[in-house]
Amino acid sequence: MKKYDVIIIGCGPSGVAAAKILKQSNVCFCIIDKNKFPREKLCGGGLTHKTTSLLKDLDLSLDSISYKSSKDIDLFANNINKTISITHDIVMIDRLEFDYNNLKQVINDNLFEKEEIISIEDNILTTNKDRYHFKYILFADGVNGYSRKLIDDREFGFCVEYSSDIKTDKTVLDFCAIESGYGWIFPKATHTTIGIGKFNNKKVDYQNLLCDFAQKHGFPIDKTRIRGYHIPVFSREIYKKSVIDNQYILVGDAASLVDQVSGEGIYYALASGKAAAESIITCIKEERELNKIYFEKTRNIYKKLIKRKALSKLLYSRYEDLFIKIGLSNKYFINYIERLFG
Ligand SMILES: Cc1cc2nc3c(=O)[nH]c(=O)nc-3n(C[C@H](O)[C@H](O)[C@H](O)COP(=O)(O)OP(=O)(O)OC[C@H]3O[C@@H](n4cnc5c(N)ncnc54)[C@H](O)[C@@H]3O)c2cc1C
Repeated sequence: MKKYDVIIIGCGPSGVAAAKILKQSNVCFCIIDKNKFPREKLCGGGLTHKTTSLLKDLDLSLDSISYKSSKDIDLFANNINKTISITHDIVMIDRLEFDYNNLKQVINDNLFEKEEIISIEDNILTTNKDRYHFKYILFADGVNGYSRKLIDDREFGFCVEYSSDIKTDKTVLDFCAIESGYGWIFPKATHTTIGIGKFNNKKVDYQNLLCDFAQKHGFPIDKTRIRGYHIPVFSREIYKKSVIDNQYILVGDAASLVDQVSGEGIYYALASGKAAAESIITCIKEERELNKIYFEKTRNIYKKLIKRKALSKLLYSRYEDLFIKIGLSNKYFINYIERLFG
């Protein structure tokens, strides 16, 4: 049986941030992922300024991947179309490349891919291939991972996305594309990602809405290549449940840490993964309670997400059109959009 102080389940942004911190402190850890890398992950791949700053702090470099940066955003709402210039670039990456590149920067011989968890009991985790003894488990396994069984009552929104070979320089956010959400066009170095998403589970015809949205902005769509994925809805209750028995800790999408206005999750995945790893290190050294330290360390993330949840309720209400129409002619709203995406 293999023995580790910490097992990280999942190596998207949250798992990798945790791995980076544990590696720097020479903690004995491993990562288990059910996929083999490089692997696909449905995502717009937009990195805000706070995300690229955090990547720098974590010493996770983007140097060897292709990306595109943009300062101008075309905003659409009702009959209004306005281009805003944000202070800092949004960096557009491809998740297949980004996640693989991050992973290569944190592992040595401690990565176990294509492993499915079968059970976790009495400090022993059993997969379809091996058994592992652990002190702590950090669940960074995303929205549909094993950890979904550990917390009930989670809520989800939904996004659909299409990857077009047509290249563009325009970044678009279109609040007419879908009710209670928005459409996006995110240009990449080699292709363009076009998607729509929303934060409630009211059924809509996603395929046709995406086709209409893409057509409006000049992108033909092959319907057979549209893909969809759940997006978690942040809640105080889920956050409070994300440390279990002072031994298991859920981060990133597994803990529903997603901005409910913009759908931004990569920043919160990195920040919570980092905080969880730092909290575990403190517990190993000082025998303190994991939940207290983790909730202290993530207070700022929590406050930010609570504010965004409140704004989302206002923005994506039945007064959505009116709110956005007024908003687009209001400098405070434009500044806010800048802060959200810049
Ligand atoms: C369509 C769409 C567009 C988005 N666009 C953006 C955007 O532009 N910018 C942004 O900031 N955020 C965006 N997000 C959100 C962002 O993708 C997520 O918040 C982010 O990927 C969360 O990172 P994570 O590490 O928590 O989980 P993930 O990135 O989902 O990684 C989870 C990992 O766990 C592994 N795994 C899953 N189950 C198991 C298991 N049972 N056992 C072992 N391993 C497992 C998976 O293989 C995967 O590698 C978007 C989301 C969607 C759906």
